[in-house]
Amino acid sequence: MKAKQDIIGTVLFTQKEITKRAKEIGEQINKDYKGEEVVLIGTLKGAIMWMADIMKEIKLDTKVDFVAASSYGSATTSSGVVKITKDIGMNLFDKNIIIIEDIVDTGITLKYLKEYISARNPKTIKICTLLDKPARRKAEVVADYIGFEVEDLFVVGYGLDYDQKYRNLPYISYLEG
Ligand code: 5GP
Repeated sequence: MKAKQDIIGTVLFTQKEITKRAKEIGEQINKDYKGEEVVLIGTLKGAIMWMADIMKEIKLDTKVDFVAASSYGSATTSSGVVKITKDIGMNLFDKNIIIIEDIVDTGITLKYLKEYISARNPKTIKICTLLDKPARRKAEVVADYIGFEVEDLFVVGYGLDYDQKYRNLPYISYLEG
C-alpha cells in the first residue's frame, strides 16, 4: 500500500524575508535594551532557526538558554495542559528575559511559560515570536515582537514540524488539508 503523503502548500515566507524581518526586530531590540544585558530563552524545538537569526542581530551583552514545553493533545491542536520537558538552567533573577518563540497559536503554552519564568523574579519579560496566529487565541497573551502574522493554517518549516518532520525546510509553508 502506498504511504499517505502530506501535501505542502505554497511558500508563505522565504528565508530572505525571514532574515530581513529578524534584522528589523534585532535592531528594535538593540534600541529597546540599550546599555542592558539580555537573556534570550528559545523554545525547543520550533524556535531554533528563528533564535539563530535573532541572536545574530543582537549587539547587546547576551546570554542564551533553551526551554522545552509540551502541551498535551493531538498533533495539530493544543489541549491546554502544559508541561516543561527541558528546564532553564540559568539564574533568571533580575535579568531582562526575551522568550524566543516559534508561533503563538492558542497562546496557552506561552502564557504558561511567561508565568513560569515570572516566578523566578526576572527584571523584565518580553516575547519575540516568528509567527502569530491570532485567529485561534484562547489565552490572553500578547507578543512584543512579531515576525509575521499568519492565517489559521497549520504552518511547517523553518523549525516548525508536523510529526517531527519539515523542521529543516528553509522557508515557511503549510500543510494542505
Ligand atoms: P499554543 O497553541 O500553545 O499557542 O501553541 C503551542 C505550540 O504548538 C507552538 O509553540 C507550536 O510548537 C505548536 N503549533 C501551534 N500552531 C502550529 C502550527 O500552525 N504549525 C506547527 N508546526 N506547530 C504549531
